[in-house]
Amino acid sequence: RAAAQNLAKQADAGVPTIFDKILSKEIPATVVYEDDKVLAFRDINPQAPTHIVIIPKNRDGLTQLSKAEERHKDILGHLMYTATLVAKQLGLDDGFRLVINDGVKGCQSVYHLHLHLLGGRQMKWPPG
Ligand code: ADP
Repeated sequence: RAAAQNLAKQADAGVPTIFDKILSKEIPATVVYEDDKVLAFRDINPQAPTHIVIIPKNRDGLTQLSKAEERHKDILGHLMYTATLVAKQLGLDDGFRLVINDGVKGCQSVYHLHLHLLGGRQMKWPPG
C-alpha cells in the first residue's frame, strides 16, 4: 500500500511510465490495434485468455480516470469505442469485460490512463 501511494504521488508529478517506453518502442509490446490517438497491446501478465491494454498515445494529464477534465471527453469516448473494435477483431463475440483501475484503492499500478479489455473466459461478479 505504501508502494501504491508512492506510485500515485509520482503520477501527480507527471513522471513517465512503462507505457511511454512502449509508445516509443524502447520496450517491445504485441500491438493488436493502433490509430493516431490510441494503442492497444497484449498485457504482459494476462488475467484472462485475452487481456488487452488500451491507452491514449498522448497522456495529456490523464494519469488516471479521476483526473479527467472536459477536454478529455473525446479521447475517453475514443478509448471505449476502440475496445469494441478490438473485441470484434479478436473474436470476443460472446462478451467481454472492460476495467479501469483508478488510484490506490482501485489497485492502479501504471499512471497512464488505460482500459483493460478481458475476454475468452466466463467472468465472475463481484470482481476482487
Ligand atoms: P494492475 O497492475 O493492478 O493491474 P493497472 O490497472 O495499472 O494495475 O494495470 C497495469 C497493467 O499493465 C497490468 O495489467 C500489467 O500487467 C500491465 N503491464 C505492465 N507492464 C507491461 C508491459 N511491459 N507490457 C504489457 N503490459 C504491461
